[in-house]
Amino acid sequence: MFKDLFRKPQRYITVRSDAVTQEKGTLWIKCPECGEILYARELEKNLNVCRKCSHHFRLSAPERLAITLDEDSFQEMDADLDAVDPLSFPEYKDKLARAQETTGLQDAILTGGGTILGWPVLVGAFEPHFIMGSMGSIVGEKITRLAERAIEKKLPLLLFSASGGARMQEGVFSLMQMAKTSAAIARLNEAGILYISVLTDPTTGGVTASFATLGDIIIAEPGAMIGFAGPRVIKDTTQAELPPGFQTAEFLLDHGLIDAIVPRKEMKPRLIEYLSYLADGQR
Ligand SMILES: [Zn+2]
Repeated sequence: MFKDLFRKPQRYITVRSDAVTQEKGTLWIKCPECGEILYARELEKNLNVCRKCSHHFRLSAPERLAITLDEDSFQEMDADLDAVDPLSFPEYKDKLARAQETTGLQDAILTGGGTILGWPVLVGAFEPHFIMGSMGSIVGEKITRLAERAIEKKLPLLLFSASGGARMQEGVFSLMQMAKTSAAIARLNEAGILYISVLTDPTTGGVTASFATLGDIIIAEPGAMIGFAGPRVIKDTTQAELPPGFQTAEFLLDHGLIDAIVPRKEMKPRLIEYLSYLADGQR
């Protein structure tokens, strides 16, 4: 009898360390931080935060909007802006097509209007699974248009960044988006419209160096990696030892670059708090 027990065929499960969204149909996910095996459905219910160590998994743009905005309130804008390949960069078109197929999005950001507990906002969320959430011409254009609409409609702007920075395949066209988005945010600022920037894991490169760190309020999710160049590049360039916790949200809070760290579960009430304090009259 016992022999039979031991001879039972083993059932293998696939354990992936990636975000749930990348692995549709995966039942179990291993937390990359603490190694805990998590049941996908429970993890999703917990807003994709590990119940053991509070590791915040990366969210897709639609997931981010779903947990932030009131149900059915989101209205996408500029959905017809399709990705471009201005430099005819080798293999870029195929890469774009693959990213569009996996994510269901045209490019690495989803923008539009919606409400948070009744507060109308213009909102954008990066899609970290679309060529690392990188910013090319279309991403820059969508952010700029969103900021311009915020001015026109006198509505607060809310941006969730999750990006590897400027998109290499669009070269200087990507770099130009830094100036373009920053200029749009400057106009927003002159018009006295509230802009809340939420930095999520990872926010790096040209995104950190432009609109993402120009918020009236800049907040981050716990443990998010935020920086410009990667730690290895900085170490090689400066030939200096980097301090522990370098480029984490916690480190940047200590050094004054961000205003607060807000766990995902507290994000919505905190946003409402900011909106009610600072955007009065913009609703
Ligand atoms: Zn964990």
